[in-house]
Amino acid sequence: MIIEMEKGHPTTVEAIRKVAARHGNTLEVIEGSEVYDTLHVIGDVRSLAGQADYLANLPGVERVWRISSSYKNIARVVGDGKRQAVHRLRRVVEVSGPDGLVRRIGGGKHIFLAGPDSVQTEEQTLTQARMLATMADRLKIRDRMIFRAGAFKPRTRPTDFRGLGLEGIAILDRVRQETGIPYITEVMDHTLVEELADHVDMFQIGTRNAQDFALLEKVGNSGTPVMLKRGFGNDAEEWFNAAEYIANQGNLDIVLCERGVKTMFAKNGYNRFTPDLNVLRHAKEKTILPVAFDPSHAAGDDRLVVENLLASLAFLPDASITEVIHAESFRVEQLCDARQALLIELYERAVEAILAFEAGVAPLLQQVEDHFELRRGATQEAGAR
Ligand code: PEP
Ligand code: MN
Repeated sequence: MIIEMEKGHPTTVEAIRKVAARHGNTLEVIEGSEVYDTLHVIGDVRSLAGQADYLANLPGVERVWRISSSYKNIARVVGDGKRQAVHRLRRVVEVSGPDGLVRRIGGGKHIFLAGPDSVQTEEQTLTQARMLATMADRLKIRDRMIFRAGAFKPRTRPTDFRGLGLEGIAILDRVRQETGIPYITEVMDHTLVEELADHVDMFQIGTRNAQDFALLEKVGNSGTPVMLKRGFGNDAEEWFNAAEYIANQGNLDIVLCERGVKTMFAKNGYNRFTPDLNVLRHAKEKTILPVAFDPSHAAGDDRLVVENLLASLAFLPDASITEVIHAESFRVEQLCDARQALLIELYERAVEAILAFEAGVAPLLQQVEDHFELRRGATQEAGAR
């Protein structure tokens, strides 16, 4: 923590020294040449940080900066206790299915999560899952495929279709048994986490619940892999700290997912949310967690889904999660997110494009990435726990 303050306030400096000592920190005063001095608070400042507002209000204090991150469990760069920075290895999140295959998110190959917005009937869910399984087998990417579908749906209006609930989970269990492919589904209620953890392969925490701290902690306790969507009004720090709530409970199997944020261009404009692609790089620089992109909710329109998905590839995301539909004729029946559902045959073209990109372009981009990694001095590596 760094505190910038006007010269000539010895009482404040002493007060800060005392508060810092109470939290186990020490103070170093660096004299500036003109109006301001700089105070360095040394040590783990996480508990002192709770008093940052108090410090900022003391006479003569100009500004308080928190330098070290509050998300220590997932941070890419941590201190080694001897004033050396350590760059930690990236996390690989594994999700396996009854087919015996392990999907490795962050393992170097793009992982494809796809399926309907929600489970409506067993027939619709099974039809989609079978089509995706066939596609995955045809393209030899079964070990990279995870099925998505919501059983609990967060809806803006209480009278809209809110999902089949536990009946939907039972359908997903049967569909998984039939296809062999693991599934991800949203959990919204912290009191259901334990029960659902016995069924689901991966939890999804939606954008509306991205800061439901009781839910985050419960999912952290469950140990089940989780995809954490970024809250649509959250800045990157808030998102990473939300992930820290999960990690802090001992669960590091977290995938961060950018799905678009609210801006003045969203809603009634040309997109539903504004995809923040730059944050994919930022998330990879700041955390050890794999990152995913959701082109569907960013677009809100099936004509924009493939474009968004391909645009995100330049940022080398570890995975994508896409909403699809098995037949145009079902659109009229679809009770949630019908407009953005991409026909599976079009999704297949996008998957082929991603595979071509992976083979032809990604290695070149990786060289660019490696250059910047080296420039950051990311030479020391240590295991993430
Ligand atoms: C969804 O995946 O269907 C969903 C509701 O996503 P989000 O929370 O990103 O809106
Ligand atoms: Mn949806």
